[in-house]
Amino acid sequence: MKRSIRIATSAAAALLAATTLVACGGEETSADGGLLGQIEAGNVTLGTKYDQPGLGLREADGSMTGLDVDVITYVVNHIADENGWEHPEITWRETPSAQRETVLQNGEVAAIAATYSINKSRSEAVDFGGPYLLTHQALLVRSDDAEITGLESLDGRILCSVTGSTPAQKVKDTLPGVQLQEYDTYSSCVEALRNGNVDALTTDATILGGYSAQSPGDFKVVELKKDGEEFTNEHYGVGLKKEDPGALEAVNKALDELYSDGSFDKFVDENLDGGQGVEKDTVGDLSFVE
Ligand code: GLU
Repeated sequence: MKRSIRIATSAAAALLAATTLVACGGEETSADGGLLGQIEAGNVTLGTKYDQPGLGLREADGSMTGLDVDVITYVVNHIADENGWEHPEITWRETPSAQRETVLQNGEVAAIAATYSINKSRSEAVDFGGPYLLTHQALLVRSDDAEITGLESLDGRILCSVTGSTPAQKVKDTLPGVQLQEYDTYSSCVEALRNGNVDALTTDATILGGYSAQSPGDFKVVELKKDGEEFTNEHYGVGLKKEDPGALEAVNKALDELYSDGSFDKFVDENLDGGQGVEKDTVGDLSFVE
């Protein structure tokens, strides 16, 4: 009896400690300010890819280029303008596919634009502004490959994709005859494809178009269709920490403006060769998440 009381007491103490921790965590969040607080304070930490040409790329001189870089820069500057704040300094953080939810949840970045598809399980962990872009899963093969022409020809082949990405999951779920090799980044998949260690790379058409343009003549993009329909729909969102007051609304407002003032089309033209694989989406409509 005594023992169980003691356990109950220490459980209560633990609960109290946990509550205190939560409270401290809350205070920390307000100290780092969330997205709006960071923009107001003049320095915001944003996540993107570092190795995806045309989307998120860290250039040799350290500068950042790509559609996602331009979109999220536009968003934070638009939020600053709306509030009468200076445009903030941006600190970039590389956010590979498998790390995105974690770095948002632990506050290492205030927002992510990183070819980040909105889906159910991710929406349980983080919030999404957008979607601001729609693309579809496709294949990248060596340009002299005449055999891989679509879904059926993948049977028995070695396919590369990235850990924690939606295309990798889709392959596991629907193509049991395919040998999937998962890497941390798409650029390592591209090298494996170039060296003949894998037969194809699968991810979003936007990303594959960027790699194909980077090495002219080496690779080609092959569409993936199932019963005449796109194999997947990849709706890109701006990842945000849950319970970041005002952030979601402000981001969606900025994305509306991005579409209506012509900036999105301009960024697509500037970053993606022929706009390959890019469709506009419906900002604020998350009805496809089931
Ligand atoms: N859009 C897909 C995803 O979010 C593939 C691209 C990526 O891994 O970043 O998983």
